[in-house]
Amino acid sequence: MKKIAMFCIPAYGHTNPMLPVAAELVRRGHSVRFYSFDEFAEKISNTGAQFISCDRFLPALNEEEEKGIRNVSSTEMTIQDLRITAAMDAFLKEELTAFEPDVIYTDSVCFWGKLNAMKYQIPMVVSTSTFAFNALSSRYMKNSPAEIMDLVFGLGKINKEMKKLEPYGYHVKNVLSLIQNDNDTDTIVYTTRRFQPYAESFSDHYEFVGPSVFSDEEPVKEKERPLVYISMGTVINDRPDFYHKCMEALKDMDIDVIISCGRAVDIASLGTIPANVSVFPYVDQLAVLAKADAFISHCGMNSVSESLYMATPLVLYPQTNEQKAVAKRAAELGTGILLEDDSAEGIRTAVRKILAEPSYRKAAEEACEDFRQRDSRKAAADFIEQAPHQGNGRDLPAELQKTMGLYQLLYWLTVIALILVLWLVCHIPYAWILGLLANFVWPPLGRKLEENAWKKLTEKKE
Ligand code: UDP
Repeated sequence: MKKIAMFCIPAYGHTNPMLPVAAELVRRGHSVRFYSFDEFAEKISNTGAQFISCDRFLPALNEEEEKGIRNVSSTEMTIQDLRITAAMDAFLKEELTAFEPDVIYTDSVCFWGKLNAMKYQIPMVVSTSTFAFNALSSRYMKNSPAEIMDLVFGLGKINKEMKKLEPYGYHVKNVLSLIQNDNDTDTIVYTTRRFQPYAESFSDHYEFVGPSVFSDEEPVKEKERPLVYISMGTVINDRPDFYHKCMEALKDMDIDVIISCGRAVDIASLGTIPANVSVFPYVDQLAVLAKADAFISHCGMNSVSESLYMATPLVLYPQTNEQKAVAKRAAELGTGILLEDDSAEGIRTAVRKILAEPSYRKAAEEACEDFRQRDSRKAAADFIEQAPHQGNGRDLPAELQKTMGLYQLLYWLTVIALILVLWLVCHIPYAWILGLLANFVWPPLGRKLEENAWKKLTEKKE
């Protein structure tokens, strides 16, 4: 039997998918310690794993830092992650020396889990609660100008914080190497290859196990009238304005509505709740989704996965760049529509469309079938038991980058040669204009060439 140490940040979206895996590992007789935070103590203890509280290492935040965390600022979250790593160093040294885990199973943005696995050279399996993101799949993410500013202005602060980790023996090349998925790390992703964008670009170190949920419940949609479920998740859910608009939009429709508004919203402050609407601070989301006919969602990875696991099509209302990536993929597979107009009228139109057009339900049913093909808990536990894994040694995104670099070089050498011929041989003085034109031609041509190169590379892989 193995000893397994689990690590996660204090967030439901990251913790929830690790819980069924913890339960399965315990069921198999492994000794599992889960380093987490008091808010999750009960859920973790219910899996049979030993909960170890890390609350005392959470730094006290000033007002600005708290605001940053509330707004899911990448800079602020990275800085706090690095600070917790430093604060936990002595404690984890003691713990890991005493427990001597065979494997560390850590969330992908839980730096103290990852960095301690590296420091003590313990085999590591990374838990990725969103899509796996590399140079290709991250094209699904579109950073807003505010997010770009946050990253650009935050880089200096992050580097300063990273330097502080050096004396503890944590050597980080750069922050991206800590966050992005690479092709050499054993990684579990809670979706299927069909749902993951550019799945072929990930090496054999990746296991796409499908949504990790406790429920074995099947979707049952038969009832008197349709049910619409609304949730903005557990992080940025303080959105009374949006819940108001939803109520306004749906109050006169012949449907039932359940809103999970989060614990930050005072339900009394929402005013009169229409007769067909019920509002709760938190619900058993899987149980609701089993019956729901549409889900207006912020597109957290877990929420979208759970929705499709229960064959419920979505009205996609993403807020962050990660959620936008999930929404884009869900829309591409026909399982939902993007809520472009979030007025009451826009919400009503989107809900009517989702309920009326059978193609959305059909696509959601297909996704449901795909998601249920494997027992994700078992697949994840097998993968952790067998770690470390051998890769196939190929890094397709790097190969693609190399090919594209070569194409680009050849393209510009040809353009320069042409300009020189036109100018020096044909004596055309405005030959340099060709350079300007070439600048506009490259993006579409590059995309086409890249598509072909990618096709060839993935064919070779098969
Ligand atoms: N959740 C729940 N009840 C609620 C709201 C959310 O059980 O009323 C769960 C949901 O099932 C999911 C998680 O909280 O597992 C939310 O994760 P997600 O990745 O969707 O979004 P986040 O909260 O991280 O933004």
